[in-house]
This record gives sequence, C-alpha cells and structure tokens, in this order.
Amino acid sequence: MEWNSPVSTLKGIGEQRERKLQKLDIYTIEDLLTHYPREYKDRSEIIKIADLPMDEPSTFLAQIKEEGQNSRHGRLVYTRMKVYDETGSVGVLWYNQPYMKNSLKMGEWYLFSGKLQKKYGRKEILSPECERIGENFAGGRIIPVYPASVGISQKMLRNLMEEALSQMSGGMREELPLWLRKEYKLAERNFAIENIHFPKTEQGFYDARRRLVFEELFILQTALYQLKNTLEDSGEGIILKKKKALQEGEALLPFALTNAQKRVLKEIEKDMTSGKIMNRLVQGDVGSGKTAVAIITAYWAIKNGYQATIMAPTEVLANQHFESFQKIFEPVGIEVVLLTGSLKAKEKRETLEKVANGEAQMIVGTHAVIQKGVEFYKLGLAITDEQHRFGVRQRSTLADKGENVHTLVMTATPIPRTLALILYGDLDISIIDELPPGRQKIDTSAVDSRYHQRIYAFIQKHVAAGRQAYVICPMIEESEKLEVQSVLNYTEELVKELPDCRVACVHGKMKAKEKQEIMDGFAAGNIDVLVSTTVIEVGINVPNATIMLIENAERFGLAQLHQLRGRVGRGSEKSYCILVSDTKTKVAKERMKTMTESEDGFVISEKDLKLRGPGEFFGIRQHGLPELKIADLYKDMAILKEAQSAAAELLKKDRALEAVDHQLLREHIEGYLEEKSLEM
Ligand code: ADP
Ligand code: MG
Repeated sequence: MEWNSPVSTLKGIGEQRERKLQKLDIYTIEDLLTHYPREYKDRSEIIKIADLPMDEPSTFLAQIKEEGQNSRHGRLVYTRMKVYDETGSVGVLWYNQPYMKNSLKMGEWYLFSGKLQKKYGRKEILSPECERIGENFAGGRIIPVYPASVGISQKMLRNLMEEALSQMSGGMREELPLWLRKEYKLAERNFAIENIHFPKTEQGFYDARRRLVFEELFILQTALYQLKNTLEDSGEGIILKKKKALQEGEALLPFALTNAQKRVLKEIEKDMTSGKIMNRLVQGDVGSGKTAVAIITAYWAIKNGYQATIMAPTEVLANQHFESFQKIFEPVGIEVVLLTGSLKAKEKRETLEKVANGEAQMIVGTHAVIQKGVEFYKLGLAITDEQHRFGVRQRSTLADKGENVHTLVMTATPIPRTLALILYGDLDISIIDELPPGRQKIDTSAVDSRYHQRIYAFIQKHVAAGRQAYVICPMIEESEKLEVQSVLNYTEELVKELPDCRVACVHGKMKAKEKQEIMDGFAAGNIDVLVSTTVIEVGINVPNATIMLIENAERFGLAQLHQLRGRVGRGSEKSYCILVSDTKTKVAKERMKTMTESEDGFVISEKDLKLRGPGEFFGIRQHGLPELKIADLYKDMAILKEAQSAAAELLKKDRALEAVDHQLLREHIEGYLEEKSLEM
C-alpha cells in the first residue's frame, strides 16, 4: 500500500463506502490519514462503577449479567440494562436502539463511555458508547473524533484509520529535511500521523500536532514565498524617474501628509525605482488616507509618461474615486476617465478609445477595467482598492494589461501582520498606522431597541444642526425580495419618526444609476438620513455625516462593524456610532463591548479573529487559500511565526529546492501550487 493508493485498497471498502468517503474528500490513503480528528475523548482513565461522578463523561468496564429490557414510550423505544463490576452496578439506557438488547453478550466485559445523569427520577448512563473488550485489552485510551458525514460512523472511521496505519506503519516518507526537524524540534512523520489519530500519551499528542501544524503552515508559506519569487523574477520593473513629481503631487493635495503616509510613499518610491516590479499591499484603517497615497503615486507614474488605473469593487466607490482624482488632476491638465459597467455604448466606445490612444492618463473604474476589450496605451501602475473583494487573479489580470506594470493594492481590513504574510504572501506590505490629525474619537454606544425613541430624537437634533446620518439595517430576510421589502418598510417608519428629515434608502436590488443618484444626493447634503443594507460598507466618504446607527448590530462581525463605523468621524464635527441589538448571547455582548472600548482596527480584528475563527473572518476560500486541515491561524500563531522563518531560511539556503534532502519537499510544493491553484 502506498501513500497515494486509493482508499478502496483497504479491507471492507466497497463502492458504496468509497462514495461516502469521497463526500469527505477522502480518495486516497493520504486523504484518509490526513483527515485529522476534530477532537478527542479521553477514555484513558477507567473508573469503577461505585466512583462514577454525575454529569461527567466517564469510562468504565462492566460485565453483562442480566438481559436488557425494551419498552415503548410513545415514538421512542427504551432499552434498559443493568451492568456490573466488582464495586456495584449501574443502569444503562439507550433510545431507539432496540438491537442493543441482544448485541451485548451475556457474561462478557465491555468498555462503556457516557455520562451518569438523573432523568425520570433515576440515575442512569444515557446512550453510552460501548466496545467489547478483547483479550489484548491494554487499558483505556484517548479516542479520536472525526469530522464525519452521513453514513460514516466514528467507529468506522476509527477502524479505517487503524487499518491504514497498521498497513502504512513506518512507511510514510519524511518530507521535512533533518536539519529543519532538528532546528525546530519537530517529531518524525510516522510518529506524528500515528499519534494524531491515536495519541499514546499527552506529550505524544502535542508533539504530533505541533509537527503537523508546522508542516502545513510551512508548506503553505514556502509555496507563497516561491510564488512571490516568481513574480519578482517575472520581468524588469519599470524604473520611474523625475522624483520631483512626488513632491509636486503632494503639493496638489489640500493637506499635509501624515508621517505614516510619507513613510508608505517612501516605500513605494523605493519599489518603483528599484528595477523590480512592485507588488505592494497598503494596509490602513478606514479613514487613514489611502486615496492620497494612490493619487500621489499615480501622479508620479503619469509624469513619467505612463497611464495609471485604479479599480474599485463597486460603482459607487469608483465614482467617488473618479471625483477625488478629477478634483486634483483636472486643474493640472491630466485627463481622468471613468470606466464602469453602466456607461452607455457610445460613452464606452469613446472612453475605450481614449484609454487605447493614451489620451486618458488616469483610468478609474470597476471590474469593467479588466474586461477583454480594454486596451491600454501604456499602463505603468495598477491600483486595486479594497483588495479583500478582489482575488489575486483579478489583480494580475489588471497588471497584465500592460508590460511590467507596478501593482499597488489597498485594503482597509487590518490584519495581524503574521497573518497578512499568509493571506498576501506574494505581496510586500506597508501599513498606514496613523490617522490624519484632528479626527475626533467616535462616541460608540451599544443599546437595545427600547432606546429607539431617544435615538430618533438624537438624530433629529443633529440633522437640525446641519449634520447627516447613516442608518444600517442588515439583511434579516431569507430572500432578497423580502429583504428589500423590509428595508423599504423600515424606511417608511423612519420617515414617520423623523418628520423633519429628508430620508432616502439604497439597497442591493437597485440599479447602479439609481443608487448613484441617491449617494450623490447624500454627498451633496440633499438627503439627511440614508438608510441602507450594507451597500455603503466600503469606502464612502461624506465628512458631514456624523451619526452611524446600526440596527441588529449582532448580525455583523466586528470587522464589518468597524468598517461601518469608519463612515463617520471623517470631518471636524464630533461623530457617534449607535449599535442597537436585543441579542444577549455572549459573543454578541463581547462584540458590542469591544466596539465601545476600541477604535483600533488591529485590536478589533484580533478580537474578531478570536471570536469567529479565521475561516469565517477572512473567508479563507474567498481569498483562494486552501482550507487548512489542522492549523488554526489564531491559536497557532506562534507556530505560524516559526514556520514563516523556517520557510525563509529554507529558501535562503536553497532557493530552487535542489538539494537532495529537499527533493520530496519540492515535489510536494509543486503539486500543491498546481492542485490548490494558489493563483486564486
Ligand atoms: P481610506 O484610507 O479609508 O481610503 P481616505 O483616503 O478616503 O481614507 O481618506 C479619508 C479622509 O481623510 C478624506 O476626506 C481625505 O481627504 C482625508 N485625508 C487623507 N489624508 C489626510 C491628511 N494627511 N490630512 C488631513 N486629511 C486627510
Ligand atoms: Mg478608501
């Protein structure tokens, strides 16, 4: 049997079982043995019946001395039995498993696992698992519990694992070179796989897990570093000259840059004069001023005779960028065009022509920018905004619109640095960790719906003073149609509650143009209160809006709440964020508390990560990262750090992985890059 033999080579696997295993993505022995336990049950400690505690999972040995009884109670069949050891007896109860009565053999000993509970006035062990004790019973053990699916029991998975392990025993090839295992104190592979399934000791389990988590993250990181190397090798970067243009660009802005903005621009300057192609991620909390950085960089590229483009995830945002760029560029004679899906045919034709003949120097747009028919005259800089909405493929399609194009990616999702290395492993990272001066703290409060009248009065007062407000009411309906209806209903109610305010609403079902009109109306101050689902989540900038009211706030994750809150506090007036929620769950409460206590995106994202787990937080899938089988990006942060330095060390030693003891690793990583398509 080989690591990559089909699972059907194992005893007892027919077509039907094979298909069921495939539902769990198990095709080969490797898939099976890397189907790691989700948790473990400790059955290593065996208790005497007389010592059984109440309500605690316990394991005990008992003999069958009396026949069980089946009885019917409505739709349930109860099977009751008394079992014995030398200290006494205990009752056992199963529901709807009448066959248990006969499956336990008189006089035999079994290992039972279950909880002693008091129900219907009796103390009984409810629905225990039980396992017959053979002659070579070596005591209790720690039992793995697997992610399972319909038709595959834990017992069956356990048996398959045991079978596969005994067949493969000692035969799993070690892929990690010895120097690495020594340096990072990693267990050997056979040991690790055996002990992750059936840990013999607690230490054995920890060693096994550490090794496997390390391996998984190490391979992922090495693959990403290699991807980055390929990117760096992929051509000569355009070398920009005329550094003076950077100061000129800066002088075009109506404010002085923050130190953080200056630092990031320095990093960009270094990249774009280095002869390598820039691939840089600019991470900055909402409102930190990423657009300014984009404007100056674009100005520099344009002054060098190149075109620059910025791609935003929504039309509303693209429009907003269009306005920001135009305001700065038009007075100095730089032609800015807007390219979105809702252009009319004629407009589109004209715009495309300008992009192709170089008349258009700054191209602002949505996905429309990367469509087929779009030809650039001489693209030198591609910027994508709010990157977490775009996959890497879209990013590179944009860069492919020119030759050796520099890429700048901007995101407002603050991600702990170590994680960013994984999520954006192919990019260099800059962080704008400072907000422009004069921003006031946003007062955040979390209340329940009893406060609505007070909130409405608060909004009225502020609107009367010339301010504006956002009201977010999240998706609560199953269907989009109902959702739209609920937003409309809510808006109607607000119109009644806020008689002196001009209220309007935007939702996902609206046409882009309609949405734009309302957004424009809000930006121009013709609308006082804007009701929306979450379409305004990213990037909208209306400094006069000072209130953010979020209904059903429990429906949002922390990162999203933080994004939403970032829509206010953008001007000189004091701003407020009000979170309304009637949910009293622990997680909801914790989120509200975090929001009222912190305004730091990094702190909030760490907390979010902790509360939700990384999968949900990042939408790992959405980023195109393969799902991790064993590592937990939050809990295993320390191992992640080690794996990252190990990956760097490995590639420094042997960049192409040519050494003999790196052979297996290279094969693995090549396969990995292909199969998991990290191109995303
Ligand atoms: P984000 O990083 O969220 O994209 P923006 O680029 O939209 O932030 O900037 C938010 C607001 O801050 C804008 O109104 C912008 O004009 C302003 N701003 C940016 N940089 C500075 C600065 N250095 N000084 C003062 N205001 C700034
Ligand atoms: Mg922005």
